[in-house]
Amino acid sequence: MARVVVIGGGLGGCASAARLAKLGHDVTVVESLPRLGGVVGSLEQDGFRWDTGPAATAVPAVLRDLFRKSGRPLDKETDLVPVEPMREHRFPDGSRLRLPSGSRADQLAAVDEGLGLGLGRQWVDYVHTFAEPWDRLRRDFFERPYSPAVASPETRGLLRSRTMMHKAVTRRFKDPRLRMMALHHVVAGGHDPRNVPAWMGLVDYLEQNFGTWTIPGGFGVLADLLTKRLAERRVTVLTGTRARDIGMGPEGPAAVLTDAGPVVADRVVVAADPRQLPALARHVRRTRPVPPPTVTHLGLSAGVPVLPREVVVHGEGVITVLTGGPAPDGKAAWTLLGGGRTSEDLVQALARTGIDVRDAVETRIDRSPRELVEHYSGSPAGVLWQGRATVGDRLSTATPLPHVYAAGAHTGGGGWVPFVGLTAALVAEAVGPA
Ligand SMILES: Cc1cc2nc3c(=O)[nH]c(=O)nc-3n(C[C@H](O)[C@H](O)[C@H](O)COP(=O)(O)OP(=O)(O)OC[C@H]3O[C@@H](n4cnc5c(N)ncnc54)[C@H](O)[C@@H]3O)c2cc1C
Repeated sequence: MARVVVIGGGLGGCASAARLAKLGHDVTVVESLPRLGGVVGSLEQDGFRWDTGPAATAVPAVLRDLFRKSGRPLDKETDLVPVEPMREHRFPDGSRLRLPSGSRADQLAAVDEGLGLGLGRQWVDYVHTFAEPWDRLRRDFFERPYSPAVASPETRGLLRSRTMMHKAVTRRFKDPRLRMMALHHVVAGGHDPRNVPAWMGLVDYLEQNFGTWTIPGGFGVLADLLTKRLAERRVTVLTGTRARDIGMGPEGPAAVLTDAGPVVADRVVVAADPRQLPALARHVRRTRPVPPPTVTHLGLSAGVPVLPREVVVHGEGVITVLTGGPAPDGKAAWTLLGGGRTSEDLVQALARTGIDVRDAVETRIDRSPRELVEHYSGSPAGVLWQGRATVGDRLSTATPLPHVYAAGAHTGGGGWVPFVGLTAALVAEAVGPA
């Protein structure tokens, strides 16, 4: 049995801890905030409640696998319900599109209807180009720690490809709205599409095939479920404790050095920004954190428009409107996420696009990208794409330090619930049973 210390109690850290405890290890999570979950969680004010981070996830199999492999299955703990339509896109020319999830045929019909006959075929053909890359990357990168020596030549070629999303999408589509749709994940995620490898378009493929899902009452409930799971697995949780460094012995870690003193360890999982830990910092010096979105939570009076759960408003940047938070009778709890544009007040910017709720705001909470990075001691959105080299500049599951592993948004595919969940499965496999 190894004494494993997990640094960071966000989704990546909790998922790693639950899996490792189930494998028989003695696991401690060191978390600087007073609660677990990281950006997954909720905030309440004046009777309104909002998810602080993700409001839904694609590829629910990743979370289902986590719960099944660490104890009671997820569907015994809560319901996962599909988000339908997945989102509405609103374009600067006034056109709108309600995009369903989980079906290629439905997406084809919806794009034809919303944007014009023939564009549906263009969209689904584009999305389908990611079927093969996903299959290769799943096997060699997402579900197995990447090793050029073991990966297929096709996977190595994909990861080395110089083709970036901006170029691939501009070449593929003449219609600016299809371009905006194809680039929306990376723009909303804070990246420059000129620096993101084209294969990251597989996110659209995953959404189309596996749908997006949420938890009734708010996705933040997942933080409570993870906390409960760690207690059931007898994981020691040190909240309010910041890890400062990893004390290395000749063959591996000896302890995690924290504000509250050393915590003895013979395996360490880093599920937080590794740049803050001197032992690892030099190995990630070429990485930069991706700025998280500007977040504005709104408590709105009765009478605001009823919108789908997610509305993506395209303009100079992207504003994502998340509706559906619990609110007092007749009122509404919305969250606005601003990606690619942070200078203007989001409520004001949204009003200019025709969704004007300025007079309905009863209460609001604003969280700037900087505040989020300070609060979570790093970006919950992970590492900024700076071209194809970023895959190698980030940490892999096995870091350059012996018996020190990485999980979470700063490794693997980056900041997205399914990718983060997969990193924890890789860590559990790398450490192995007690
Ligand atoms: C606003 C927002 C909305 C999002 N929406 C979606 C979405 O809809 N769908 C989706 O798939 N993804 C979404 N994401 C991305 C996804 O939620 C995150 O990438 C993922 O939850 C990150 O998990 P993590 O554990 O890697 O990081 P975090 O959640 O950041 O957790 C890291 C934890 O480590 C702790 N920590 C850091 N440093 C230390 C230290 N030195 N010592 C001790 N503890 C430390 C932090 O306090 C934190 O709790 C969103 C992200 C944001 C910011």
